[in-house]
Amino acid sequence: MVREETVFGPIFSRRLGSSLGINLLPVNGKICTFDCIYCECGWNKDGHDDTRLPKASEVREALEAKLKQLVSEGTPVDSITFSGDGESTINPDFPQIIDDTRALRDQYYPSAKVSVLSNATQVHRPEIFAALRKVDNPIMKIDAPTNALVQKINKPVSDYDVNRVVEALKQFNGDFVLQTMFLKSKDFDSSSPEVFNGWMDIVRLLKPREVMAYTIDRPTPEVGLLKFTVEEMRALLNPLIEEGFNVQIKG
Ligand code: SF4
Repeated sequence: MVREETVFGPIFSRRLGSSLGINLLPVNGKICTFDCIYCECGWNKDGHDDTRLPKASEVREALEAKLKQLVSEGTPVDSITFSGDGESTINPDFPQIIDDTRALRDQYYPSAKVSVLSNATQVHRPEIFAALRKVDNPIMKIDAPTNALVQKINKPVSDYDVNRVVEALKQFNGDFVLQTMFLKSKDFDSSSPEVFNGWMDIVRLLKPREVMAYTIDRPTPEVGLLKFTVEEMRALLNPLIEEGFNVQIKG
């Protein structure tokens, strides 16, 4: 089960390059508004030993110390990436932390991108959307096109409405990255018409500047999940590629 420090890495990411991670969730726990069947952090119920969220001042301090160290070592940083053990945007200091991170990026690694991996459950909140608008790569998750299907794969822990998320994402006017997990479970199949056709409609409506399609890479809390091969995903996504969408496939 993955547990990250507040600032971790850098790790190499095929898409983001040398990526310095920021975890705005507890160091020894997981807190998320989803409880995805494929989450590499495990189930929410297994991650509640630690519920303390780092404050903006702590994140700023830890990030500056790490950036100073990396500069002195000559280590490249291509992206400062908010990921970690849960959903970053539920940290109450998220908007302040984004402002601080951009300022530190400008000071230490001006060419690095600021990226946020988010499940998009909070994007309807104006202050969260405004913060996400300031980052270079807002990478927002939609795995399924209906609330019933989202229940099967993402298991939201509070009120969730995929239509509300889609409406909120429209505000980006396509200037965001859509991230989608492709898998098969006992009652969910990303390639089935009920999932895939509705999901493609959402892509066509939102016109994200990039679609990141990925599949299972690490042990999952639900057993028996099946991954897709790169070839299968490419065949599946070909209609969108032919329509001109920028689709990145990660096997
Ligand atoms: S949104 Fe991400 S962190 Fe949250 S449960 Fe799903 S995979 Fe895990």
